[in-house]
Amino acid sequence: MTKPYANLIGGEMISTTATMDVVNPATEEVIGTVPACGKDELDRAVAAARTAFRSWSKTPIEQRRAVIQAISATIKENADELHRLLTAEQGKPHQQAIGEIIGASMMAGAQSTLELDDEVNEDSDARISRTRRVPVGVVGGIVPWNFPVMMAVQKIVPALLSGCTIVLKPSPFTPLTTLRLAELIKDVVPAGTVNIITGEDSLGPLITSHPGIDKITFTGSTATGKKIMEGASRDLKRITLELGGNDASIVLPDADVEKVAEQLFWSSFTNAGQICVAAKRVYIHEDIYDELSKAIADYARTVKVGDGAQQGTGVGPVQNRKQFERVCELIQDAKDQGYQFLLGGDVDPSGTGYFVPITILDNPPEDARIVAEEQFGPVMPLMKFSTDEEVIERANASDYGLAGAVWTKDTDRGVRIAEQLETGTVWINEYMHLSPFVPFGGHKQSGFGAEYGKEGLLEFTYPQVITVRKNAAV
Ligand code: NAD
Repeated sequence: MTKPYANLIGGEMISTTATMDVVNPATEEVIGTVPACGKDELDRAVAAARTAFRSWSKTPIEQRRAVIQAISATIKENADELHRLLTAEQGKPHQQAIGEIIGASMMAGAQSTLELDDEVNEDSDARISRTRRVPVGVVGGIVPWNFPVMMAVQKIVPALLSGCTIVLKPSPFTPLTTLRLAELIKDVVPAGTVNIITGEDSLGPLITSHPGIDKITFTGSTATGKKIMEGASRDLKRITLELGGNDASIVLPDADVEKVAEQLFWSSFTNAGQICVAAKRVYIHEDIYDELSKAIADYARTVKVGDGAQQGTGVGPVQNRKQFERVCELIQDAKDQGYQFLLGGDVDPSGTGYFVPITILDNPPEDARIVAEEQFGPVMPLMKFSTDEEVIERANASDYGLAGAVWTKDTDRGVRIAEQLETGTVWINEYMHLSPFVPFGGHKQSGFGAEYGKEGLLEFTYPQVITVRKNAAV
């Protein structure tokens, strides 16, 4: 029987008569039903968050840290159950699901140690002035389907640490693990501080425009990010937007082909390519192009595509039918244009599950859709380049600016290239390394503001300056 899941509002698990089905992308079976909330449930959640904000915002930061550490511990203690559920709803292989769950626990624990101290601006004979950080209020958190637990925790933790309360909406495609987590932390967090409600995409704009919400923190597509910015503008809500990317990975001619092939593969195909910072365009210097592209394709042949719940699976299904159809459309376009494939490209439309074979394209042109658009699936275009200047220009020819990577033994040359890339993060000789203490955010249309680190935390606060005139004539 399909398991029903409930929402967390004001410290209680609640159900609704309207529900939505959640499908396992590997089997296409319904594995859970969740509440389909509308305005009434949202109003209830916002009211609970507003009430809780009165006391939570005045709770000493040490107590707020302790609550976050308890959330971190709860996630870790229940990692076995949570990661299995995550694989079932999201599709990622078990070892990647456990990575997400343990990663979320570690991120929460580490971020609980961040400080929000006052800063002294001036301490002179005339006055003392300091900036304190006050919480913005009730936060609306909106989460995508690729890393549902990590993204949810990444919104809950800075909200709570800064003294805000939160109403969080998971993606309708992947709400189950977050709702199980809601059940587990129900008695760990003070009632109303964390509220988790589920609904269709249409619940999103209701959150964005709700007058009782003071800030939106959103991770998802650039198209939705623009709508959120528009909705939030009505009452000037604060916003943090982590959006799409079309990250370029640049491999210089001195890179060791055997050593980088496997790393390049996983930088594109982890989570079936459904990562904002996946390498979505791989530029290889012409001197090593043939050798490296062959090595990547050879390695790719050793990786099994299948149900993430099965032992040995390296690449799971695409998470949902809409995304599956989009990836298939991009592959079909590449075929129609006559581009060359090193591997894959043939999707079985009659099969069960949203499986796309590992697909590698051989030097498609820069204006190919698979190069110019964010594919968000297990498809990797490899392109040849000749000079640093040329590859920098090609990498920057995008509206996105999330991240990128350079692979080289000459790290000075790597840094010179990195400094000319128009992205929020550039990794040299590694990929996707995110730290709880380092800000992460996109340039151009990849985002607005930052998450992680002190900079991410400050986005949940207003600065308030208090100035005291000394020896005043009053
Ligand atoms: P999406 O924008 O379709 O949906 C994200 C969330 O927004 C979901 O919860 C959805 O229900 C909600 N939503 C949909 N329409 C809305 C609206 N009009 N107003 C408010 N909320 C609305 O994104 P997705 O398909 O779930 O995720 C994939 C995208 O997310 C990719 O572009 C990927 O690059 C991006 N992403 C970015 C980061 C990052 O940190 N920069 C991380 C992960 C994913």
